[in-house]
This record gives sequence, structure tokens and C-alpha cells, in this order.
Amino acid sequence: MRSASPASRTRGSRRPLHNPAQHGASLNPALEEVSFCPRCGRDAQVDFPQRIHCPHCGYGAYYNPKPVSGAIPSDADGNLVLLRRAFDPGAGLWTFPGGFVDLGESVEDAARREVREELEIDVELGELVGVYSRSDERVVLIVFAATALGEPRTTEEATEVAAFPPDALPWDELAFWSTQAALRDVLRNP
Ligand SMILES: [Zn+2]
Repeated sequence: MRSASPASRTRGSRRPLHNPAQHGASLNPALEEVSFCPRCGRDAQVDFPQRIHCPHCGYGAYYNPKPVSGAIPSDADGNLVLLRRAFDPGAGLWTFPGGFVDLGESVEDAARREVREELEIDVELGELVGVYSRSDERVVLIVFAATALGEPRTTEEATEVAAFPPDALPWDELAFWSTQAALRDVLRNP
């Protein structure tokens, strides 16, 4: 298990290209160091991080913040189930399950799938807790309240799993600003 030291926040950060706002990550890794058109292979015009356009064949693509869906499961006693992240960003720190919404699934599908992958339980989704977005972030986080259906366990993505009473959340060891904001919001509307 990785320890939750402040140093673990910066571990694994990459080259600070373009916008090192969070975790040293780029606002658009998909467009980094791209200079050729993916359709015709000739020189394209790249307006990083938002757009690529090819004057030769007319190919164009716009990039937007990526939706990430998460759920905060509560157990039968009203405790909130959190996991200690195995991987960067935020390795060794606590958060709730969440991940990128794939093409072909809804935001709700993604939240349920992520909980299954990270905690090996199903959840019943409840109210929308909030939407968390900042101009220096490449993701938009959408968070639902949820009821845990089963006993969560550790997985490849979660080195430790614990159910925290609402008055004993690990505020000093949370992975992201949005983790903190969403937990505050879910406690406001339990
Ligand atoms: Zn082209």
C-alpha cells in the first residue's frame, strides 16, 4: 500500500507542457506534438489545445473537456465509502470511484461501471451531487450520490477501501479539489 504523503501528489507528473495547472498534466494530451492531418497526412493547422484543421483535405476536429463520472456510495449505516487510489494522479490519496465516460455509455452507466471496477460492488444511483469544472482542467466531473449494494473490496485501482462516518472523513488526504468539493456537497444534502 502506498502511504499518503504530500510527496505522492507530485509523483509521476509529466513534462509541464502548455498548461501544468494540475498534476503536471496537459490540457489535451491527444493533440500534443501533433502536426500532421490524421486523414491525409499533410501539414495541419493546430490551435492547441482546442482544434486541429487541415487546409488540404478539410479535416477538422474540436476538443472539449472530457466528462468524468463518479459516485459516492453510502453504506447501510450512512458511512461514505472511499478508496485509496493506486495510480496517479492522486496515488495514495482518498477519493470516491469515478472515471472517464466512454463513447457508447451514459454518464450514469459510467458511474455504475466505475464503482464496479474500483470496488466490485453494484450501486443504486441517487441524486446528482454536483458538476465540478475549472478552466485549467481537462475534465468535467459529474458526481452522484449512491447506495452501496454489497461489501466493497480492494482492487487493482484501490489499495485500501474504507467506510467513513460523515464526521470523520480524511479531509487532509483527499486526491483532488473536486473530491473535497463533492464530499462537502453530499454532506449538505445527505
Ligand atoms: Zn488533411
